[in-house]
Amino acid sequence: MYLILFGAPGVGKGTQAEKISAEYKVPQVSTGEMLREAIREESELGKQVKDIISRGELVSDDVILELVENRIQKPDCENGFILDGFPRTQTQAEGLEKIVKKLNLPPFTCVEISVPNETIIERLMSRGRADDSLETVTKRLKVYQDQTEPVKGYYISTNQFVSIDGNKTIDDVYNNIVNIVKY
Ligand code: AMP
Repeated sequence: MYLILFGAPGVGKGTQAEKISAEYKVPQVSTGEMLREAIREESELGKQVKDIISRGELVSDDVILELVENRIQKPDCENGFILDGFPRTQTQAEGLEKIVKKLNLPPFTCVEISVPNETIIERLMSRGRADDSLETVTKRLKVYQDQTEPVKGYYISTNQFVSIDGNKTIDDVYNNIVNIVKY
């Protein structure tokens, strides 16, 4: 399974990635989770990204692409993986294409989980994560609209894109996703 879970913060990408990962035995590659782990470990990377994340801004494309390229070459990614929260910019999508060619990976299916903005704000505000204050949430949604949403165009143009309704139960959303990515 080579899957990109696409969508704004708070639409349930992480929840779904975890569920699919457990069922299909392919790892969840979550750049947000990797960065939060770096912050917890107080590594160089963690120190570098802490303030950026707490402001709701994006970490630089170079840093993210290096992180992803290294992660997906680990043995557990041999039979596929689920990208959660990546790619988030045009440059990241282009970088991913280069990695796909270099590593000779099959094409990804990009599944967008779509949820109305009001619901997203409610969900994020009740989650209680450090970067979930109203100010940061608003900023992250704006960053999503400005920088990430346009990335859809690429996956639409290559016929790799499907959008599903994320305003349903976790199980319904899960079933919709796995019906799309049956292989
Ligand atoms: P997430 O858990 O995916 O919402 O990510 C939390 C935060 O980590 C984001 O608001 C960004 O600051 C940073 N981040 C995660 N993934 C990326 C990415 N692909 N590109 C840039 N920044 C990212």
